[in-house]
Amino acid sequence: MDMPEYTPAEAPVPEGEIVIERGSTPQEIGPKLNRTAADVVRFLMAEGEMVTATQSLTDEMIELFAVDVGAEVRLADPGEEEEVELQKRLGVEDLEDDDDDEDVIERPPVITVMGHVDHGKTKLLDQIRNANVVAGEAGGITQHIGAYQVEKDGRLITFIDTPGHEAFSAMRARGADATDIVVLVVAADDGVMPQTLEALDHAKAAGVPIVVAINKIDRESADPQRVMSQLAERDLVPEAWGGDTIMVEVSALQNLGIDDLLEQLVVVADIEELTANPGGRAKGVVLESHLDVGRGPVASLLVERGTLKVGDPLVAGAAWGRVRAIIDDKGKQLKEAGPSTPVEVLGLSDVAVAGDDFVVAPDDKTARQVADQREHYQRVASISGSAAVASGGMKLEDIFSQIQAGEAATLNVIVKADVNGSLEAVTESLKKLERDEVKLAFARRGVGGVTKDDIQLAVATNATIIGFNVRPDRLARELAAQEGVEIRTYEIIYKLIEDIESAMVGMLAPEFEEVVTGEAEVREIFRVPRIGAIAGCYVTNGTITRGSKVRFLREGTIIWKGAINSLKRFKDDVREVQAGYECGIGLTDFQDLKQGDIIETYEDREIPRS
Ligand code: GDP
Repeated sequence: MDMPEYTPAEAPVPEGEIVIERGSTPQEIGPKLNRTAADVVRFLMAEGEMVTATQSLTDEMIELFAVDVGAEVRLADPGEEEEVELQKRLGVEDLEDDDDDEDVIERPPVITVMGHVDHGKTKLLDQIRNANVVAGEAGGITQHIGAYQVEKDGRLITFIDTPGHEAFSAMRARGADATDIVVLVVAADDGVMPQTLEALDHAKAAGVPIVVAINKIDRESADPQRVMSQLAERDLVPEAWGGDTIMVEVSALQNLGIDDLLEQLVVVADIEELTANPGGRAKGVVLESHLDVGRGPVASLLVERGTLKVGDPLVAGAAWGRVRAIIDDKGKQLKEAGPSTPVEVLGLSDVAVAGDDFVVAPDDKTARQVADQREHYQRVASISGSAAVASGGMKLEDIFSQIQAGEAATLNVIVKADVNGSLEAVTESLKKLERDEVKLAFARRGVGGVTKDDIQLAVATNATIIGFNVRPDRLARELAAQEGVEIRTYEIIYKLIEDIESAMVGMLAPEFEEVVTGEAEVREIFRVPRIGAIAGCYVTNGTITRGSKVRFLREGTIIWKGAINSLKRFKDDVREVQAGYECGIGLTDFQDLKQGDIIETYEDREIPRS
């Protein structure tokens, strides 16, 4: 192929900052910099990148060209400029202006608990919630909606119920600063540990006051004084020593000192003078969001200002809808919710994204239009994003050879997870694996099962699909097999991370595929005293083998998974039974089998790597 010469054009570029949308094509970029599309294409060819005039460019390509022509370019996400306009239409600024007047009232503080793993964050949150559920309250059973409220001396305190700085920083990365006070949990027997320091950094970066909970003081080896001096070295000097950091000794396990901690949180809240205007349209942040089979998209929201009401036209990121129901953390239906109240909301058109802002729009039409616009830009962004990852990205199994060849590699991934919280967690953990020689590019991140569309995107972008707590449906599985797309599903984050890490050092664990080895139909159930139920079956396919893994299907749905404990032909124990024969399958753990159920045995077989 002829390589046209690239001679830098001499024409001056426009002065000042030039905004270029991510994923723009040479045809779009050229004119903005007083160049032609051909100039851009020729330059990139000289750099070894074959692109066409109408192809989306990566950030790096755009920046390279900008530097070459001496232009000051700022890359904007598609829709970033337009978002300013959308915020105006929603009247977000007017809402915030409102908050300066005398209508503001005191509001509950919003607390995030952070600290090192195993220092007792979860225990503390559970204890606070359990100890403070008002007995006899409607519903009574607390719901996990991403945050909860407790009462202390007639004052409310809101706790974000995902502890740790990962969720906190993921929210902040999306522009949400919902937390007013951080409770830093340090185990008195373990002292300041790496994640204590990380948490400290995050809290400081956010400029949020810190209250220290020195936990596990019930332990014999507890040494609160040591914790205090360790923290004092990091500029958190306890009040007792003349500093200004409140430190409370607690035992989450034995419910000691918790009341004192709550009291201190109220004190800090007073110092901070936390206020909000309860009047007018509500605005706040999405804490969590998921799709509920019966109820549709469910979003947990934290109201930051105004009052959210049933019937309000709500926009949360690219989702919108009329609020159909508001439910609090005790499962109680509310008509409205004021500042600092965490609630679950039904009625949105779509699953919102944790960390996104929500706001009640002036009317339905505006709400829908804004959401539609945002969705449009997200689509544009994801298309240009995937175009960008397509060039040069590669699959998990190939990544090591590339690294070994001394070249930097980009691993393209599509991440699907069950809920937004886990999606954020998986993303954050994956990002931490990035090194100089391996970069990650997310072709898509989404909530829900792995679909055909994900496979298509994976084909287009040469991506590996990572599923967390989700499975591919049949269409997706078939297409993936046909197109050679790798789908890896996990239920434990650390397994997922371990795998990706291994891939990066060329030791990716073998992939397994499930092979169905036998199928039997349940014809009759016998109950045998002291032994339990025996299913009289007819083997319709393959071979049923004792000890093999098994799942029971009723109308195509898995109702139980386990192993076959006993297998009989007439009265004799046998090792296997072939298709066309009857047999008795003993069920020790599962007694609920019915006539017509299908028993399927399967094996995990290793898929050889090429
Ligand atoms: P997290 O990782 O920070 O959320 O820690 P967890 O809340 O899961 O607690 C880790 C372990 O420490 C659990 O086994 C808890 O039961 C235990 N634990 C938490 N608080 C206390 C405490 O005050 N005293 C004692 N002895 N154990 C505690």
